[in-house]
Amino acid sequence: MKIYNTLTRKKEEFVPVTSGKVKIYLCGPTVYNYFHIGNARTFLFFDVVRKYFIYKGFDVTYVQNITDIDDNLINQSNKEKIPVPKIAEKYIKAFLDDTAAIGISPADHNPKATEYLAEMIGLIKDLEKKGFAYEVNGDVYFSIEADKTYGELSGKNIEDLQVGARVEENTQKKHPGDFTLWKKAKPGEPKWQSPWGEGRPGWHTECVVMSQKLLGKTFDIHGGAIDLIFPHHENEIAQSRGANNCLHANYWMHGGFLNITGEKMSKSLDNFFLTRDVLKKFDAETIRFFFLSKHYRSSIDYNEAILQESEQAVKNFYSALRKVGYQILRDEVPEYTEDQLKMKETFINAMDDDFNTAIAISVLFEAAKKARNTDDANYAHLLVELGSVLGFFTDLESKLKDNVDSISNDLIQLLIDYRNRFKKEKNWALADAIRDDLKKLGIQLKDTAAGTEWEMD
Ligand SMILES: [Zn+2]
Repeated sequence: MKIYNTLTRKKEEFVPVTSGKVKIYLCGPTVYNYFHIGNARTFLFFDVVRKYFIYKGFDVTYVQNITDIDDNLINQSNKEKIPVPKIAEKYIKAFLDDTAAIGISPADHNPKATEYLAEMIGLIKDLEKKGFAYEVNGDVYFSIEADKTYGELSGKNIEDLQVGARVEENTQKKHPGDFTLWKKAKPGEPKWQSPWGEGRPGWHTECVVMSQKLLGKTFDIHGGAIDLIFPHHENEIAQSRGANNCLHANYWMHGGFLNITGEKMSKSLDNFFLTRDVLKKFDAETIRFFFLSKHYRSSIDYNEAILQESEQAVKNFYSALRKVGYQILRDEVPEYTEDQLKMKETFINAMDDDFNTAIAISVLFEAAKKARNTDDANYAHLLVELGSVLGFFTDLESKLKDNVDSISNDLIQLLIDYRNRFKKEKNWALADAIRDDLKKLGIQLKDTAAGTEWEMD
């Protein structure tokens, strides 16, 4: 199984730290707002990474943190006139609700930054002792010049950062690229006691501590969107190496952006759609299909025409299942034909090749088509088995029923439309036959001023 590692800039064979186990850390939300559909793309992709490892038989520990203290929360608290902890509480709930609504399985752990203050202070003290950190007037910085391999993840070097730095407002840093480990509290801000006075930890420190605490000093996969490579992940690596002299995570995976008319969707550019709003237009499986149809490292454009095509594709999955009279098998393994086994192999090879979900999805397509054309229910089982790995069909039983219901509604409406046409053409015999035949099925038509209504007996 190969994974593209941002750290080495190549696809590498995946070798876990502990055989049979995979430990994954995904940078989670800063809870000062609802998350947008671009964030959802990242969260959803890593949900698939996790599910695929589980499918392959690994014991997976999946952590996604919650940043519940930082400048954005403080600004939002001033804006909404609600204390910071209340802001955090409100948007943590929204985060959990929205991730569930978009079909993402809950993480094994959702650590909150404010629950790890003692460990964060411990790490900063350790860095200070080892010569990687310095304090100026209650603020503590990481000295990037003390880290000989700084820039390894992003490819930036210390000189470039010096040249690239604008006239610094903050002149107390030794190097403009030095980043904050501990920030002195301004009046009225949330604060914790520390050896450097009252303040709060920096974001980069939060993630190092939460990941190491739950997954160990070196774990398998650290994920996020590509905009986290620098400075966030670079600065996590620097702290981890400074404190522990080891690599923070072995594989660094980064997802591409969701663009909107060619520009990155982001809160700072104010060109975003909230996940909860998109979910009012398209269901979770449609959005999942839309994202997974493209490779995770490519950037994609938010496009409602393509989302509508995705919606149709998902509907086709269910209609194929219905056509072959798909039944959920409990504990039984279907006996696949040679062709079906080959399709499964294509799916696994694609996923083993740096999670090529675009090819994996095409296998689902083929399975649905063959199920429809051959009436061989095993293609339907294959569709469900592989689709579930990508996070589809989580609510199969009720979905199949819903679809049957909605098709029935559509068919009754179709007959009503035909009857109206026959009436207009004064073909009373056929119009009456439709009404009488529906009545035999227990469906009563009632002509009203607003049109024809129907009800079941
Ligand atoms: Zn992070």
